Amino acid sequence: MSHASASSWSRRRLLGGAVSLAALGSFTAACGGGGTPKATSGDRATSGASPSPTAAAGGGVDAELIARRYPGLKPFAPAPPPPAHKPIVLSAAHPQVFSRVPITDKVVFVTIDDGVEKDPAFIQMVKDFQVPLTLSLADTLIKDDYRYFAELHATGFVSIQNHTLTHPLDMPRLSAQRQLEEIAGQQVKLHREYGTTPYLFRPPGGNYNAATVAAARGAGLKGMMLWKESMEIHDMQYQGASHLLRPGDIILCHFRGPAQLKGETMVQMMANLYRHIQAQGFTVADITHYV
Ligand SMILES: [Zn+2]
Repeated sequence: MSHASASSWSRRRLLGGAVSLAALGSFTAACGGGGTPKATSGDRATSGASPSPTAAAGGGVDAELIARRYPGLKPFAPAPPPPAHKPIVLSAAHPQVFSRVPITDKVVFVTIDDGVEKDPAFIQMVKDFQVPLTLSLADTLIKDDYRYFAELHATGFVSIQNHTLTHPLDMPRLSAQRQLEEIAGQQVKLHREYGTTPYLFRPPGGNYNAATVAAARGAGLKGMMLWKESMEIHDMQYQGASHLLRPGDIILCHFRGPAQLKGETMVQMMANLYRHIQAQGFTVADITHYV
């Protein structure tokens, strides 16, 4: 799709208006709730074959292994210590909308949405790099394989947040009650599957209105997390005119695979993202330490 359509979409999203499906373009629409979950790839048994003693224990990252498996990449620099006081203080009474964190450290936050693709090699990648990721999951896109995300969660490097039950891209057109059902229902499912209670909500497509904020509050969520950059197959789309990362930016990615990435894999796309981040001298931190 053209960059023009994507940037106009981003601008419209920033204005807070509802975005029509037609405006999304075919690639972005792959994110959409209209898509059916792909069949489980099945070949999971091979994924855990190599010994991986580090995982959640947070052992050292193996620079040689990184360079071998992910050409051009190196381990990320350690994130700075978490701030003593969170730069964004959230309140359950007034869920705040934010798209970056006001900090000066060269840190960005990586968020991955939806859940369509379930690539076992990506679980290994998470263990290899040991960088924190925030997953916003929609039930309709993960329910064919909840276990995949349980395995990701078990790495200890991801937090799981709320992205609705059915991924409606037209949240603002839904009744207040339906919006509440979408968010509160997903809270129940995520707690049932993963034992987690998300506190951040990412509205599908970034589309929301006052009723969405009220629904998030009603479902017990404290923040509405938007984004500043979005990752495509090889490139990032920047909202800022500089086309550079800025400290505290939130980057949006999706669980996508060859069907959505013109043959490239989730791991290849994420490696491309990591190259962009490393090339600009940034590292990745855990947004749950900052908001
Ligand atoms: Zn989404």
